[in-house]
Amino acid sequence: MKDEIDIPIQKEEDLVAANVRRDNYSKVRDLQAMEFNTAIAGRLLAKDKIQVKCEKCGKEFTSETAISDSLKCPECR
Ligand SMILES: [Zn+2]
Repeated sequence: MKDEIDIPIQKEEDLVAANVRRDNYSKVRDLQAMEFNTAIAGRLLAKDKIQVKCEKCGKEFTSETAISDSLKCPECR
């Protein structure tokens, strides 16, 4: 009689523990995927910032400012 009660409780605890482990695993995976995507987006953004073509003389130059700020190289400003 005691065993019949203990077994379902044991199984439920295992199920809860398994769910917690699965949740934690999912959170770690999501976090890693998010960091990976952020790193890619950051590299693409950095690439866009580095290569800016001057709209006046056509010379490519590096810029750390926003693209909308100016499309002219420092010499043409
Ligand atoms: Zn220029």
